[in-house]
Amino acid sequence: MQATSNRLVLSPSDLNDYVECPHLTTLALEVARGTRRRPHVPEDHVDLLRRKGEEHEAAYLKELRAQGRQITNVIGPDPWDFATSACSTEEAMRAGVEMIYQATFVQGDWRGRADFLERVEQPTALGPWGYEALDAKLARAEKPTYVLQLCFYTEAIASIQGAEPSAMHVLLGIGERRTLRHTDFAAYYRRVRAGFLAALGRAAATEPYRVEHCALCEFRQVCDERWQQEDHLLLVAGIRRGQVNHLRSAGIGTLAQLAQAPATPVPHVAPRTFETLHDQAGLQLRRRTTGVLDWHALPIEPGCGSQQLPRPSPGDVIFDIEGDPFWEPARGLHFLFGLLMRDAGARDSAVWRYQTIWAHDRAEERGAFEALIDLFDERLARHPDMHVYHYGAYEPTALEQLMGVYATREDAMDALLRREVFVDLHSVVRQGLRAGVPGYSLKDVEALPAFRRQARLTSGTRAVLAYEEWMATRAGARLEEIAAYNEEDCRATLALRDWLVDHRPDGAAWAEPPEARPVDDDRQKADV
Ligand code: SF4
Repeated sequence: MQATSNRLVLSPSDLNDYVECPHLTTLALEVARGTRRRPHVPEDHVDLLRRKGEEHEAAYLKELRAQGRQITNVIGPDPWDFATSACSTEEAMRAGVEMIYQATFVQGDWRGRADFLERVEQPTALGPWGYEALDAKLARAEKPTYVLQLCFYTEAIASIQGAEPSAMHVLLGIGERRTLRHTDFAAYYRRVRAGFLAALGRAAATEPYRVEHCALCEFRQVCDERWQQEDHLLLVAGIRRGQVNHLRSAGIGTLAQLAQAPATPVPHVAPRTFETLHDQAGLQLRRRTTGVLDWHALPIEPGCGSQQLPRPSPGDVIFDIEGDPFWEPARGLHFLFGLLMRDAGARDSAVWRYQTIWAHDRAEERGAFEALIDLFDERLARHPDMHVYHYGAYEPTALEQLMGVYATREDAMDALLRREVFVDLHSVVRQGLRAGVPGYSLKDVEALPAFRRQARLTSGTRAVLAYEEWMATRAGARLEEIAAYNEEDCRATLALRDWLVDHRPDGAAWAEPPEARPVDDDRQKADV
């Protein structure tokens, strides 16, 4: 969005932003009108996404050229000169060229650029041919925002060729081409566009609320600061948007107010949910005001929370994966399997040693997966009571995916799953306790065992960026940084595991292996 002296210049991506978050439109409008400064935040992650998107588009262009397709690029020496590119686009359409690259449209206050226009043999005002829009997208599935952009291009094409293209296309990162019918989405597009224009005209107050797009948004620091200043209810770990609205309707507008509210439920919030949120807010407020991280165990339920913890074994392994989702558009690469283990029988058998298994291409990824499963398998044979601890569902899900992709180690993997060797500490924490933490990610709950990090990299996203940098430069220091980060994740998981074992509630049973559990009567009958 840009403001000139007397009008706003809009693009389909402004429409996308509006769908992602109406408050983003408000902030972008303030920047365009000069009443707010554009925030200067390092956007490495956004830059990476942009670069990967351009690579995907360039790869498709190369493929088309290799097929001998006739492609006309309408971008002139100044890529920001939309008016000239739009004229060139129209000329190319009238000439009936086979494909138009970076097709540009200027329609009133709107301007936009489609990756490709494809000629189709359908009579229009241009002649016995017409055009349909195609966008190359990095994602592995369609998103509503892609549809909005394609609808804009389709209507712009229609205004030039005097007939509406029936189809529009998106080339996904997985290499699949999806064809969409414009008529299926035209009403949705018009509704969103009308809502967006009305929002610009009204300039009504909007409020930030955490959404998926925040992770990529240039205004996230602005919104974070506002939430902190307002002591917004979304700071309560695990709260949902609907619950925030109901609490506000009942006059509870901040985390502190929720913590100090009487323990009487509010309308439209289930009593048990209110009790949970009230308790969570109280724990967080206590930490904020006293600095003390309080926690308490949740009522014991069979097979849940602390009862998912098995007895520690000398064969136990702590496991954490680093993956690069952008390694290839079709599928990311699991490039590092990090492990912490003790060497039973060694002189320093009490020491947890960190071990890495790296994979820098598909063949190595397969080899790393096989080596890892063989290691677990062999360790399980020596220590039948061993377990593999991880935090969150990512690790076993990734291993199942690799087993499926490479069709290898199925029996060993199946045995690991059947014997319930993997222990998800996130599930143990979420079902077993409540603490004065702002969330329940590993980085939040590692405060319970007072784990301190020192590695230069501080997040999985930073590890992905470092890996991308390593791919470009082959600088070994980047891999060392990633390993240091991964080792800290493993050691934080170990510290948490030990803390959970030490703080098991009285009366909590250890998790037993499946073969040692009694088969319930219903199941027994069903098996007969
Ligand atoms: S940070 Fe999130 S809430 Fe704030 S404007 Fe961006 S997307 Fe909206």
